[in-house]
Amino acid sequence: MGALTFRSLNIIAILALGILVAIHLCWMPIHWAFFLLFAWLYISIIFLACVKLSLGFFMPVVCSAKTTERVVALTFDDGPARYTAAILDTLKQHNVSAAFFCIGKNIPGNEPLLQRIVSEGHTIGNHSYSHHYWFDMFGSGKMLADMKQMDNEVARATGLKPLLFRPPYGVMNPNLARAIKKGGYKPVGWSIRSFDTRAKDKQMLLSRIIGQLKPGSVILLHDSMEITAAILPELIEQIKNKGYKIVPLNKLLNIDAYA
Ligand SMILES: [Zn+2]
Repeated sequence: MGALTFRSLNIIAILALGILVAIHLCWMPIHWAFFLLFAWLYISIIFLACVKLSLGFFMPVVCSAKTTERVVALTFDDGPARYTAAILDTLKQHNVSAAFFCIGKNIPGNEPLLQRIVSEGHTIGNHSYSHHYWFDMFGSGKMLADMKQMDNEVARATGLKPLLFRPPYGVMNPNLARAIKKGGYKPVGWSIRSFDTRAKDKQMLLSRIIGQLKPGSVILLHDSMEITAAILPELIEQIKNKGYKIVPLNKLLNIDAYA
């Protein structure tokens, strides 16, 4: 791979720090600001690694498919939510399959929606139970308990156990990597972030997604957003007009969706 990982960064950082300290003590004094710069650089790399899943810094996270075929997948996070039903209607009309990374706490009362997602040929992924604001500050045991609670909700509603996991807020860290490994999940990111949660203009949102299309792209959308439901028919049309086929996420990535 050759990619920088958490482990190799730490080895490099410790070696470099050792050399700096040795120079400082044995050869010539190094200004304290230089050590501060060193720490800042280390923290900056860690921060970038937490928010950029595709770097695979803490663990490999699949964010797209390696293919030359014009195939892409649609994914919807944060449901079941207000616009899930409308989105399912559109997907059905266009005969398109998608993946829904659901939040466990949204499931009670929405079991029929979960059952519809499954019966209409879509995939359910785990997006945590709480989607807690401080989720990334949880210890790995607490994270795993949260993820399992989500599994229980899906099992209760559909009898299925999700294998695909998408980190809340798209943030990875060492504790989450540990929880994912322990739980046996497959972490899935994305390669096209639509920013539909912030979008105000439909045409801008559409062109932002269409402009980034590549063979194997995984598109991140949210079924909690009205604008997403509104542009979906046009989005599907434009993707097809560009010569792309929308395929189920697990088929695109060639992985199992359920245990
Ligand atoms: Zn989310």
